[in-house]
Amino acid sequence: MPPELFIGIFVFLFGLIIGSFLNVCIVRIPGGKSIVMPASACPKCAAPIRPYDNIPVLSYLVLRGKCRACKTPISPLYPLVELLTGILFLACYLAFGLTIDALKWAVFSAIMIVLVFTDLRERLLPDLVNYTGLALGLALSFFTKPTDGTALWIANHIFEFPPPAPVLSFADAIFGAAFGSALLWLVSEAYFRLRGREGMGLGDVKMMLMAGAFLGTKRTLLTILAGSLLGSVLGVAVIVARRKEADYELPFGTFLGMAALLVVFFGTPVVNWYQSLLMVR
Ligand SMILES: [Zn+2]
Repeated sequence: MPPELFIGIFVFLFGLIIGSFLNVCIVRIPGGKSIVMPASACPKCAAPIRPYDNIPVLSYLVLRGKCRACKTPISPLYPLVELLTGILFLACYLAFGLTIDALKWAVFSAIMIVLVFTDLRERLLPDLVNYTGLALGLALSFFTKPTDGTALWIANHIFEFPPPAPVLSFADAIFGAAFGSALLWLVSEAYFRLRGREGMGLGDVKMMLMAGAFLGTKRTLLTILAGSLLGSVLGVAVIVARRKEADYELPFGTFLGMAALLVVFFGTPVVNWYQSLLMVR
């Protein structure tokens, strides 16, 4: 078996296991419950979930989506989150190889999955996730390449010699965080002034503070643009299809999270195209 295939399978299976843990985070963190204790149990009949019934995706299929004890249906979101995490981890390996960059984007994918689903389920983007993510994003920036280029661009205008790569990368993370939170705060203020009510919570601002530290300035801008577009298109579609009220609260964090993941894997050509436009002028 070629080593790439072996590593790919391992990374995918590892993603499934992490996805299983993310399910625990999604269900427990919004309510302020511990993610370590107690062990998982059926929410309906409280029967403990046996280790052999806790295998990612497989157990859901074997049990046909029902609790072994009381036959209450299990949400298909559980295997979906596991599968999604496995696929995104594999995508990180395929796109970035066995590198610290791949690790950084895998961590980012995991955080985005948690926020996408807590916002979808409960309209909550927990501080614990945002601030833990911010710390991880800043820490990982020291070990990854300064791909954004904003810090280098500024440094070239100030210094004779540019600072070392880890400093540039950390500065890119700080700029991305500041830019993401500031822009989202402005958008929410503008919305508040126009509509006279809160359009989005502070959770979205904190989410972009954290995401900006991973993404850097350019990809943060792209994420907010793509997230707003997704929110408009999918949001209107949901309101029309499900006959919700026009002031039905949309999970904006869910759209931002989906956009951020699209930007990680497909954003580079867009960023390059935008930069080429700037070069020409
Ligand atoms: Zn049960």
